[in-house]
Amino acid sequence: MTLAEGIRRRGFRKWYERELLIGHSHLALLLFCALGLMMALEAAFRFRTLTDQLIDGVAVLVCAGAGLWALRRYLFLLMRAESLAHQADCPGCGAYGRLELVDPAAAGDAVAVRCKRCAHEWRIEG
Ligand SMILES: [Zn+2]
Repeated sequence: MTLAEGIRRRGFRKWYERELLIGHSHLALLLFCALGLMMALEAAFRFRTLTDQLIDGVAVLVCAGAGLWALRRYLFLLMRAESLAHQADCPGCGAYGRLELVDPAAAGDAVAVRCKRCAHEWRIEG
């Protein structure tokens, strides 16, 4: 979900909270993939038939691929959320995260926002 869509639907703070939750769910997936990879590698030494070894090889590839994807997605979501959160302080009054879109039809992660407390406008770019 882009920043503009998140602010429009839930507000900045809820958007930020959801981004962190989604990011950390990818971290949990990464941990499960690491466990699956270790189990598959350990099983590789026990299987003797070609079919079992092939299935185990597929499990290793799936766990490694999904784990790398989850790690990349986790880092992306966390870095983007943190980058945008650092820009959420109002330069006018210092209020954190109390902002709304200047243009209600805005899209993407680069948007003009307005403080709900003092109506100061600034731009947030992801
Ligand atoms: Zn303000």
